[in-house]
Amino acid sequence: MVRNLQIAARKVSSVNPATGEVLREFECASESEVQAVVARARAAQPVWAGLGVRKRIAVLREFQRRLLEKKIEIAEAITREAGKPVAEALTTEVLVVLDAARFLIENAFRLLRDEPLPHGSLATRLKRGRLVREPYGLIGIISPWNYPFSIPATETLAALVAGNVVVLKPSEFTSLVALELQSLLHAAGVPRDVFQVVVGDGATGAVLVHSKIDESKIDESKLGESKLGESKLGESKLDESKIDKLVFTGSVATGKRIAMAAAERLLPVVLELGGKDPMLVLDDADVDIASSAAVWGAFMNAGQTCLSVERCYVHRSLYEKFLGACVEKTNKLRVGNGFDPGTDVGPMIHARQLQTVETHVEDAVARGARLLAGGSKILELGKNFYKPTVLANVTHAMRIMREETFGPVLTVMAFDSDEEAIRLANDSEFGLAASVFTRDNARGERLARQIQAGTVMVNDVVSCFGISEAPHGGVKSSGVGRTHGRFGLEEMVRLKYLDIDLMPGMKKVWWYGYGAAFARQMQSFQDFQFGRGLGARVRGALRAAAIMGQKKL
Ligand code: NAD
Repeated sequence: MVRNLQIAARKVSSVNPATGEVLREFECASESEVQAVVARARAAQPVWAGLGVRKRIAVLREFQRRLLEKKIEIAEAITREAGKPVAEALTTEVLVVLDAARFLIENAFRLLRDEPLPHGSLATRLKRGRLVREPYGLIGIISPWNYPFSIPATETLAALVAGNVVVLKPSEFTSLVALELQSLLHAAGVPRDVFQVVVGDGATGAVLVHSKIDESKIDESKLGESKLGESKLGESKLDESKIDKLVFTGSVATGKRIAMAAAERLLPVVLELGGKDPMLVLDDADVDIASSAAVWGAFMNAGQTCLSVERCYVHRSLYEKFLGACVEKTNKLRVGNGFDPGTDVGPMIHARQLQTVETHVEDAVARGARLLAGGSKILELGKNFYKPTVLANVTHAMRIMREETFGPVLTVMAFDSDEEAIRLANDSEFGLAASVFTRDNARGERLARQIQAGTVMVNDVVSCFGISEAPHGGVKSSGVGRTHGRFGLEEMVRLKYLDIDLMPGMKKVWWYGYGAAFARQMQSFQDFQFGRGLGARVRGALRAAAIMGQKKL
C-alpha cells in the first residue's frame, strides 16, 4: 500500500535546463513530514475560513501588488528552472497570475455568497431555498513543471479565496519556483500553515493523495509553532486528517493512477491532463495569420504546453503555401538560453522529454513524413535543445499524431472538406483545446461546436489559458473538472442546499396519514399543477383543495 511507503532520503534536483547547472538539491518530504504539513494545514483552516471573503480578497490584492513589484524576479526564476524565455515567463506565467488575482478580487465575493433558490413547484412554495458555498477545507494541489508558476498559483488563489487551506506538491523539476510562490503568498499575509509546499517526487505526491494522519508516525518536532499540538490533533483524528480535494495537473498516465487512488477513498479530484490539440486552417483562412499562429502555438515554451498546437490540418488548396510560410517562419526562430533577450525558443526541460520528441519524429519520418525543418538536437547549445521542426505528409498511423509529443514539432496534414477536418480533429483520445482559422467567424463557430474539446478558439491558439474568466479543462482523456474563472472557483467549494420551511408550525401534507382519499387528492393536485388546459387544472385544484385539511400522523 502506498500509505506505508517509506520515502525518506530520496532527493530531487532543481537544474537549469539550458546550462545543466544544479541549482539546488532537496530531500523529498518524508511520509511523516507530509502528514505533519497536512495536520498543520487542517488546524489552520477554521481561522482562515472565519476571516471572511472580503478579508481574503484583501490578501489577494496584496499578493497581486507584491507580484507586480517582483515580476521580473519571478520571471527570471521561472526561466532559470524551466528554460523558457523571460518574455514568455512574463506573459504566460506572471501576467496570467496577475490577471487571475484580478478576476478573483473583482468577482469572488459575488460568486461565493449565498444564492437564493426560488422553488417552482406549488408543493414547495412555502419554503425558502438557498445555495451555500462552503470551502472543502484542505485542497491538495499537484502540479507539473511546464508552467511552474501560473498553474499552481491560479489554482491556489481560487482555493484560498474560497476559504480553503492548500498543500502544494510541485513538480520535482521546479521546486524553486514553487518556493517563490510560497514566499510571495506568505509575505502578502497568507498564514504559513494556510499555504505550504511539500517538495518531492511522484511518491511524495502519492503520499499527499493518500494522506492520513497516523499519530504514531507524526514527527512532533516538525509541527513547529502550530496550534495543532494544543487542540486539533486529539480532536480531529483520522477521518479529518487528510486532504479534502485534489487538483492535479500532469500527464494522462499519472492522472489515471491518481484517479484510481482517489477512488479508494472517494476523494474528489480535478484532473487537468494532456492534450493533442488540433488546429484547423479552412480554405478561406489568411495564410500569413494562420501560419504565424501555428508556429507560435507549436513552438512556444519549446512545445511543452498542454495547449500546444500538436496537429495542424490545412485545406488542400492552401497546403503548400501554408507549409512554405511555416517553414520560412520556423527557420527565423532563434533557439537559445531563455535569458538571452533574442531567444524565441528555449531548451526542453530534460533529456527524457527530448527523447520522446526524437522517437516521435523518427517514427513519423520512417512512416513517410516529409521533414521540412529541424529534426535534430542542437548539441552546441546544450543537451536539452531541439530544433523547431516542421513535418508534412503526416498521417494518423504515426505516433506523432496520436500520442502527446510535448516538444517543438509542428505536424501538418491536408484535408479536403470541413467534414473531413472535423473527423480528423476528433480522431484522438485527447480533447483539451482546439482552434479553427477562417475569415468567416460564423463558419468558424459552426465548426467549433462540432469539435470535441474543452475549449475551441476561432482565430487564435493557446491564449485561452490567459483569459481569467474562461474555464480551463478537457474532455476525453484530457481530464475532468475545470480550473480558472467561475467554474474553477466552484471546484473549490462544496455546494450545500439550505432549506428553511416558512410554516414550521404546520405538518406537511406529504407526511404520514396516507389512505385512499389522500391518494385521490394527490392525483388531483398533480392534475392541477401539470394538467393540459385550464379546465383540467381548475377541476384538479377543486378536488385537491381538501388535501390541506388532511389529518397527519
Ligand atoms: P507528470 O504526470 O509526470 O507529473 C505531474 C505531477 O505529478 C508532478 O508533480 C509529479 O511529481 C506528480 N506525480 C507523479 N506520479 C505521481 C503519483 N503516483 N501520485 C501523485 N503525484 C504524482 O507530468 P509532467 O511531466 O510534470 O507534466 C507534463 C504533463 O502535464 C503533460 O502531459 C501535459 O499535457 C500535462 N499538463 C496539463 C495541463 C492542463 O491544464 N491540462 C497543464 C500543464 C501540463
